[in-house]
Amino acid sequence: MNYSSLNFNSSSVGFLEAVRKGLAPDRGLYYPESIPKLSKEFIDNIEHYSNHEIAFEVIQPFVGKDIPEDRLRMILEETLNFEFPIVPINTSIATLELFQGPTLAFKDVGARFMARCLAYAHEIKEQKKLTILVATSGDTGGAVADGFYKVKGIEVVILFPKGKVSEVQEKQLTTLGENITALEVEGTFDDCQNMVKSAFIDPELTNEMNLTSANSINVARWLAQMFYYFIAYKNRPKPSIKLVISVPSGNFGNLCAGLVAHKMGLPIEHFIASTNINDSVPNYLKTGDYEPKKSISTISNAMDVGDPSNFIRIQKLFNNDFYKLKKVVSGYAFTDIETKKALKEIYADCNYVADPHGAVSYLGLKAYLEENEENSLYGIFFETAHPIKFAPTVESTLKIKLDPPAQLLGVLNKPKLSIPISDYKSLKKFLLER
Ligand SMILES: *Cc1c(COP(=O)(O)O)cnc(C)c1O
Repeated sequence: MNYSSLNFNSSSVGFLEAVRKGLAPDRGLYYPESIPKLSKEFIDNIEHYSNHEIAFEVIQPFVGKDIPEDRLRMILEETLNFEFPIVPINTSIATLELFQGPTLAFKDVGARFMARCLAYAHEIKEQKKLTILVATSGDTGGAVADGFYKVKGIEVVILFPKGKVSEVQEKQLTTLGENITALEVEGTFDDCQNMVKSAFIDPELTNEMNLTSANSINVARWLAQMFYYFIAYKNRPKPSIKLVISVPSGNFGNLCAGLVAHKMGLPIEHFIASTNINDSVPNYLKTGDYEPKKSISTISNAMDVGDPSNFIRIQKLFNNDFYKLKKVVSGYAFTDIETKKALKEIYADCNYVADPHGAVSYLGLKAYLEENEENSLYGIFFETAHPIKFAPTVESTLKIKLDPPAQLLGVLNKPKLSIPISDYKSLKKFLLER
């Protein structure tokens, strides 16, 4: 499989090269030259396949010959080494918990897959040390830090917006040490992302070092997220009813992966893009006008993105046809007040503790089901983070105390290690002087 740049000014590359580069030299996002179709037989018999087998079937055509089959199977086993339970909320809604991995957010799957693909690339081709530069609005940093921790030949530099990530997220980013460095940026997530983008096109840096990104724009992170949709479909509680899936969205990598799965032939009736008040995409779906905005801080901070990077891939998947896209995707945006009300409702009605992202996802699903034939649809909303990652909001809203899960026991008491950064100049200085 080859990947070409969506800016159309770079030559196409194979899977591992696209993973290593992150962004194409013309700053475009890589996009597969074709979307393979899965056989009807595979879809009809999906319940007989293990998660590992499903993942292999789904991703292998995108990897092609770049990774031998045995190695790819091993990578997938290490990537999907935790549970993805579906928890029914009421008779027509369930949640798929994607947060049981080591850093308690759904980003673990993409980060683990990418780290292992890169480790393989490094093994087969001796090269300069690779520096991964990544901006995070909260969960990416932790997942990438964990995924790459102590991976040979790879150094990770994470930029996070000061005071805008939760305490648990900050701990996960800043306490590892070794090959992981956290930079605390005076600014927003968009500022962090812009600095990373500037670094990639700065010849003084790129001549000096081998830079790549691990944001959801990386094809390994992006495409691995398809697995969730296949797992949701395989384990859906009511197979006789059409399935709709609500995805809490920020940079739109996750939803875009779901749309790839759909194009490959996975029978999902409809997708719901659920956001907080950073509503560029829901607005677009209503008006047809895409107006990127500055991001606004909310209690679901991993979705505080005003100009989602993956939006262009979504448009490409539908050949820029607004009406085709609207048939498959609806969008809804919610305020923090609505999100807190939803947290309470889910807890009171179903005794389930959601996190703010899951609550937004639930609200989007409910809104869509109310507007459509509720009884002929079954809805799954994605729960993308463990509520403990947003403990202050969840505990004060629900008036409960959460117990830290096993994954956190290691990090909560470790000292914070981070370096303050104010602008691009100081980032560049840091990178050159290491
Ligand atoms: C990153 C993240 C999101 C948003 O995912 P995108 O793929 O960027 O749309 C949603 N919820 C949580 C908890 C996240 O960490």
